[in-house]
Amino acid sequence: MARFRSEVDIAVIGAGAAGIGAARRLAGGSVSTLVLEARDRVGGRVHTIDPTGFPLDRGAEWLHSADRNPLSPIARDLGLEVHRRPPEWTTRLRRSGETIEAEADWIATREAQTRARRKAAAEPIDQPLASLVAPGGRWNELLDATSSWGNGAELDRVSVKDYVRYEDSGVNWRLREGYGRLLERLADGLPIARDTAVSRIDHAGRAIRLETARGTVTARRVIVTVPTSILAAEVLRFDPPLPDKLAAAAGLPLGVDNKLFISLSGRLPGIDPDIYLVGSTTSRETMSYQVRPLDRPAIYTFFGGRFAAALEREGQGAMFSFAAGELVRLLGNDIRRQITPLASTAWLQDPWARGSYSYALPGHAEDRALLAAPVDDRLFFAGEATSPNFFSTAHGAYLTGLTAAEAALASLAQA
Ligand SMILES: Cc1cc2nc3c(=O)[nH]c(=O)nc-3n(C[C@H](O)[C@H](O)[C@H](O)COP(=O)(O)OP(=O)(O)OC[C@H]3O[C@@H](n4cnc5c(N)ncnc54)[C@H](O)[C@@H]3O)c2cc1C
Repeated sequence: MARFRSEVDIAVIGAGAAGIGAARRLAGGSVSTLVLEARDRVGGRVHTIDPTGFPLDRGAEWLHSADRNPLSPIARDLGLEVHRRPPEWTTRLRRSGETIEAEADWIATREAQTRARRKAAAEPIDQPLASLVAPGGRWNELLDATSSWGNGAELDRVSVKDYVRYEDSGVNWRLREGYGRLLERLADGLPIARDTAVSRIDHAGRAIRLETARGTVTARRVIVTVPTSILAAEVLRFDPPLPDKLAAAAGLPLGVDNKLFISLSGRLPGIDPDIYLVGSTTSRETMSYQVRPLDRPAIYTFFGGRFAAALEREGQGAMFSFAAGELVRLLGNDIRRQITPLASTAWLQDPWARGSYSYALPGHAEDRALLAAPVDDRLFFAGEATSPNFFSTAHGAYLTGLTAAEAALASLAQA
């Protein structure tokens, strides 16, 4: 295992999108930098695998707000193929057995929710998204399921004020080679120490001391990019303690979203490639299905919230059995002979993620700014949860890394 410098100007903790963004901003300048990463790979919650001849994104797949996403032009310039076919997330309910009229009613309900959320966000008191749903409404279960896909948590868990701050341009693109491959390319040549978990940040003295799995590193400035779950559980501790940071991290828990990748053999008559199916319109415990994504012989399933946490504990067999049941209801019994499980994720059990992406609990919309605030102009904070407008995304994380790096450089320049 390669040795690394034990004394640097700026240490970055975590080599996910935020840490890579920070390290790229710092690279090539006059300050010495080291990225300390717990895993044996870079990318964090952006991870592409290739078990069967085509790439599978275990975490981030979509360049969200792609027309405003700084990683879109970077990916293109690196020669990665950017795929622009728009997704049809939960708009085509007729494929799930609903009539065209019911589908229109669902879309109208969703639009009414969007308006109600904006209005409620302007009220002084923050509320859960669930407070805006009419009791007994026809689409309540599906609204909850879509919240579990978008936020990783059901409507009762999510702050209205925070939710409306997310900026969605409505444009979503994919990378044929996989999002993880982009981050690997961006990390190329950066000073990253893998297998180097940091357990303690001692910021009492002039030099900040980082206790790592491979010895102590001292730094003048530190950029912390680990997930809120790691901070809240004190897997990474501060000494002296930072109770405000701990509280902010706890107010921004990671929701749960998982994926099951299914191999699909043969044809599906009457089904175009790259369409979406919603498993059920009447249960919050349901999956979304991306059928033959990018024309590949596969179905990608996506599921979230409490349901995803429970299925994750049961394992891939239970995920597949649930998905097969829904696919039979949607596509008929023959589908059973065409599908086999390929791979699945368990982000909640992943020791260095402990969840998928952050949402704010009701009353905690300001926690993102609290978490992002520097301490003593020496400890800086980045990561998707600190993004004011692109939280829960890879590009949001990347941008916070750039911002934290700028701030760390400015503070060194003044020292
Ligand atoms: C299933 C799923 C689907 C998603 N889909 C999308 C999508 O389509 N589009 C999108 O933009 N985003 C998506 N996301 C969210 C996106 O992946 C994350 O928001 C983003 O990657 C977070 O980046 P980050 O740098 O903030 O954190 P991370 O990627 O978690 O990086 C933090 C790094 O810190 C490391 N670390 C943790 N603890 C320590 C420690 N003590 N010492 C040292 N290192 C440590 C971790 O190993 C990790 O590498 C998805 C996520 C999941 C799980």
